[in-house]
Amino acid sequence: MPSPNHSDSGKAFGVYVHFPFCERLCPYCDFAVRVSQDPPHDSYADGVLAELAARAPRYAGRTLETIYLGGGTPGMWRPDAVARVLGAVARSFPRGARALEITCEVNPEGASPAALAGLRAAGVNRLSLGVQALAPRALAQLGRAHDPARATSAMAWARAAGFDDISLDLIYALPGAPAGELAATLAGVVALAPEHVSAYALTIEERTRFGALARRGALQPPEADAVADDFELTHATLTSAGFEHYEVSSFARLGRRSRHNASYWSGAEYLGLGVSAHSLRRLPDGRLERFASPRALQAWSRGVAALSAAPAPADPVAAPLEADALAELHELLGPRDAAFERVFLGLRTSDGVAEADLVGHTAALPDLVAAGLITRENGRVCPTPRGMLLGDALALKLG
Ligand code: SF4
Repeated sequence: MPSPNHSDSGKAFGVYVHFPFCERLCPYCDFAVRVSQDPPHDSYADGVLAELAARAPRYAGRTLETIYLGGGTPGMWRPDAVARVLGAVARSFPRGARALEITCEVNPEGASPAALAGLRAAGVNRLSLGVQALAPRALAQLGRAHDPARATSAMAWARAAGFDDISLDLIYALPGAPAGELAATLAGVVALAPEHVSAYALTIEERTRFGALARRGALQPPEADAVADDFELTHATLTSAGFEHYEVSSFARLGRRSRHNASYWSGAEYLGLGVSAHSLRRLPDGRLERFASPRALQAWSRGVAALSAAPAPADPVAAPLEADALAELHELLGPRDAAFERVFLGLRTSDGVAEADLVGHTAALPDLVAAGLITRENGRVCPTPRGMLLGDALALKLG
């Protein structure tokens, strides 16, 4: 990695890089992915770097804190291409006093001692390992290519490669899961001793294979009660094992919260690069600007080329991205929408929101305290675990 250009001034922000290739398509997956055994490592990195060059002036004055390689399966990306992208991102912005947090998502079946050592040497210092479950039945149902032993090996290889900050991804609320299956997975996860766990309820999305099965009645989506039971079991098991439940889907050892994800929930800005990546900017006039790139690889490539050839805007920091060649989605949020967004995101987290941010919406607070959904302490309104589960409904009452 290049030598850092330290700066404590400027607003902290993160860069997300989407790598849209996977070796196979999981039946529940609705992300922007293409199946490929041999993805275009170099040309995709070239496109990301061209997008970075065109977008970085929009984020002038920000301080880079985190980089997150997500997908797709960025663990498939050749380490020298990863190093090229990470180096360019790090050189493009001033840094804060803390070392960059650089996370990469990796699947157990694609992990090997050499691949993990390559990612570590490329500058990645945090892994998100897609374990999903530690029961053979659950892994088969989810269409995953690894077995529990492979997940355990991947964890050991990651430690041997020097990773001391590892998050494991889990999926619960699986249709037809026998009693005790999730408890056994959670016990196995605790035994693997990760620094962080991300646990999500299975959602059945329309345009997936699971969505088609559900429409035919061949797959029963999980009932709300079953989701709540699994959420509570996950919360109870991981918090008694010493994890802090700091966001509806996120659990961390002390000091090991995901800085990148936490910045999303605190409303920090981010720049997304690659196919379907989303970005958020705060304009000097206080409006929030959200934009996203196309989901289709060719449309993204064409957009990057057009953006690179377009004249640079006169005032890239202050000007919104009107008529942008790459942004497939573009919206501007005024102060009222931005305030709701802050409440909505804050109520996903154990830190909650400042009571002062709930101006005009505090009448419901006593009832929500009595119902055990929130607590009020030191000027903050914080959801209880049950409240986090109902986060969207809480936000509608309080936002
Ligand atoms: S590995 Fe992840 S991104 Fe790829 S298809 Fe499966 S769930 Fe989707």
